[in-house]
Amino acid sequence: MSTPLGTATSPSRLTPLEEALPQLMQTASTLVGEHTLPLLQCRGHILANDTLAPLDVPGYDNSAMDGFALNSKELQSGRRNFVIMQRIPAGSLGTALQPGTVARIFTGAPLPPGADAVVMQENCKADADSVTVLQDVNPGENVRRRGDDIVAGSLLLAAGHRLAAADVGLLAASGLAEVSVRNPLRVALLTTGNELVRPGVSLQPGQIYNSNFYAISALLQSIGVTVIDCGIVGDDQTATEQALLHAAELADCVISSGGVSAGEEDHVRNALQAQGELALWKLAIKPGKPFAWGRLLGKAFFGLPGNPVSAYVTFMLMVRPYLLRCMGASNLHPQTYRVTAGFELSESAERQEYLRVRLVTDAAAGERNGMPMAVPFGNQSSGVLSSLSHADGLLVIPPFTAVAKGDMLSYMPLL
Ligand code: AMP
Ligand code: MG
Repeated sequence: MSTPLGTATSPSRLTPLEEALPQLMQTASTLVGEHTLPLLQCRGHILANDTLAPLDVPGYDNSAMDGFALNSKELQSGRRNFVIMQRIPAGSLGTALQPGTVARIFTGAPLPPGADAVVMQENCKADADSVTVLQDVNPGENVRRRGDDIVAGSLLLAAGHRLAAADVGLLAASGLAEVSVRNPLRVALLTTGNELVRPGVSLQPGQIYNSNFYAISALLQSIGVTVIDCGIVGDDQTATEQALLHAAELADCVISSGGVSAGEEDHVRNALQAQGELALWKLAIKPGKPFAWGRLLGKAFFGLPGNPVSAYVTFMLMVRPYLLRCMGASNLHPQTYRVTAGFELSESAERQEYLRVRLVTDAAAGERNGMPMAVPFGNQSSGVLSSLSHADGLLVIPPFTAVAKGDMLSYMPLL
């Protein structure tokens, strides 16, 4: 028997996000196992275990420049002319430096024993077998020390980290050919609405294309979720109940879109209450008021609104962090920034608003010292998908807040 979902809020109450999100996140835990992937396939995956550095990088003191490796004490004691006794390209080893001599050395080559600095070739006058050093060199100058980048035994990457391109390089530099990453979470996605048809089929009067399935699938794929397509469900209570149960049998988690308001043609909430458990309905945000969270057959269920912008925004704010935690990720929420409003707005109402904005730095939009300003897309209707496609991110307008040009507001990039 699974644990209860906590305080089921009164059905008519609008729950603020600051309340709903922690309540939801408390119920999330890692659901998936792990598997090993070769390095070239691991970008975007979530690291399953803390990974310790198996070796120092660099593994030996080496030259940061093409030049001459020398003992800086000899320079300090006044010597300027040296005999070039050896040549050390990258991949070769030199021999111990004798007094009065230097080694011709190249970037990445190991420093020979007895050398403690490299003088750049631009600061020397050299012929075939001797060199005059024209500038002083400090001990350690132009030398990359063993372990400067990575120290053996230190934490290279922590469990839960999503592997980016640089991390793939870091793992390779440490000699690791494969890593253990989290298995994908399996999410069943169904869309409700008699009016919906798939792109690729011609529209009959009264029909629209099902954009939510595609946008939400793309969001799920972008965080490494495996999407199970549960199709389009008509606006009928029995059909919705059956579709929800079927979806819950197939997946770790279920998401629906549409039919979650209080209208006669909205059946998702009743279907969930008939077959499972409703923990939350209606968020105090705009767009995205109708939003259901609950449980079906022990699986988390999210009923997204039908309006495409509302579906997208509620997914980003509520569902995405939940799914990331189920996949063992540690970085759950997009980084937010304070940015300057490049517009004015009369006082908002009780719902916190998420305006679709672009960050603009051109002079025409009022650029000052290259600081970006947030400019909203003209039509902020929750049905206007262009507003999302156009936007760089969401600008948060707290409840009962008017905006004046130049106000600083919280901004969340659309990832
Ligand atoms: P609903 O929440 O079902 O009342 O839908 C609200 C609005 O969103 C209506 O205009 C629907 O036609 C539209 N809508 C619902 N589902 C989708 C979908 N999957 N793709 C595009 N628009 C949708
Ligand atoms: Mg509908």
